[in-house]
Amino acid sequence: MSEYDLVVRGGTVVTGTAAFRADVGVRGGRIAALGEGLEGRRSLDAGGLLVLPGGVDTHCHLEQLQPGGTCDEEGFATGSASALAGGTTTAVTFSAQFKGHRIRETLAEYRRRAARGAMVDYSFHQIVTDPTDAVVREELPGIVASGIRSLKVFLTYDPLHLDDGQFLRVLAAARRAGALVAVHCENRDAIAWRTEALLAAGLAAPRYHAWSRPPVVEREATHRAIALAELVDQPIQVFHVSCGEAAEEIARARARGLKVWGETCPQYLVLTAADMDRPGFEGAKFICSPSPRTAEEQERLWGMIRRGTLDVVSSDHSGYSYGGDRGKRVNGEGAPFRDIPNGVPGVGSRLPLVFSEGVAKGRIDLPHFVRLVAENPAKLFGLWPRKGAVAPGADADLVLWDPSRRVTVTNALLRHAIDHTPYEGMEVTGWPVAVLRRGELAMRDGEVLAEPGSGEFLPRGPYDLIRPTGRLADGFDAAPPPPD
Ligand SMILES: [Zn+2]
Repeated sequence: MSEYDLVVRGGTVVTGTAAFRADVGVRGGRIAALGEGLEGRRSLDAGGLLVLPGGVDTHCHLEQLQPGGTCDEEGFATGSASALAGGTTTAVTFSAQFKGHRIRETLAEYRRRAARGAMVDYSFHQIVTDPTDAVVREELPGIVASGIRSLKVFLTYDPLHLDDGQFLRVLAAARRAGALVAVHCENRDAIAWRTEALLAAGLAAPRYHAWSRPPVVEREATHRAIALAELVDQPIQVFHVSCGEAAEEIARARARGLKVWGETCPQYLVLTAADMDRPGFEGAKFICSPSPRTAEEQERLWGMIRRGTLDVVSSDHSGYSYGGDRGKRVNGEGAPFRDIPNGVPGVGSRLPLVFSEGVAKGRIDLPHFVRLVAENPAKLFGLWPRKGAVAPGADADLVLWDPSRRVTVTNALLRHAIDHTPYEGMEVTGWPVAVLRRGELAMRDGEVLAEPGSGEFLPRGPYDLIRPTGRLADGFDAAPPPPD
């Protein structure tokens, strides 16, 4: 009699701490056992392959609504297809508040859209752009209690950005409700001032996007975000760290015992500002914020990854088409850099790029790779140990990975709705050959087999990692957290 529904046989299992030969027994969509010689009703041969936990991408913009009633070109179904094609089975996307609006109904609309389209399991970060009393007092506690354990704020971008007073209100609201706060750290006024000067000097081509926001504007906002979070005693994750000097701020905070975490993204490990210097409008494809930097900064980021200061690599997938009139050209070809949408697609290319640049090039080992792309994001955002683990009890989200396959990245391989990838033509080593999501084959040899709407919402309960430290200036608690 077969004990398991499925056995993944003969592969090398990689967890966040070790790599070892084992079969994986799956029952009822979950991992039931790891061991030798397991028997199941079905089996999947993983000989010569690595067996990794499904990728967990905790920064992924899918089907985000725009004020005019439109939404992102990348929907939940196409974004999920790309995720699965690249070895990712869980995504945390966004529910975005419009200024002047409430949050509850907006979140309900995102939940409906994801329930129709998603093929990966998912949760949301709630973006707060207008922390009025009504939102902070009446809505946020219930939203957090419904399983949305993370809020996202922007310190730049009109009209999304928060000033320091508003940011403090969100930090305090998160502390009272028990949620993590993720922060986009750049100094809005500094960027606006420099942008105006660049455009007045006739420097408007895509490459000047990088000139408008040098590392110092990111470092300053990172420092300020950490200082205000320390004042409130509220844990934060700094999103998309692009340079060594911003990472240094995080390292200093951690050395002082603060709960501050840092994320980076493949675009900061692979692209540089020089990519925006391509002829014509081509450079627009590489515009994202913060801006890609230099090869030296890339090595600094790898150093910060090895130190553990940057412990998550997510995609910040934010796709805008190049050829269409809604994407990068929405304000016309030749629009000044200020008016070109910010963001690059990357949910499908994330694992291959980090594996190739990290493991294949000897910068990190296999367990470290798994920690960066699956285990740490799952832990930080309250999805552990259901997601990000290859262990009994976890969901059977598994990637069968060929560590020596050499692939030339093309847009078609990535299965997203966007008409380009900034990594077109790049040679990578390592590629996913099959993906299981809750024990079902969801991708094989690049073919996506899951159905739209088959992804599940992941409600996130309270968890220890994001409990405040209890260290308060003068012992006065201005925003008491919920009781244990
Ligand atoms: Zn983002």
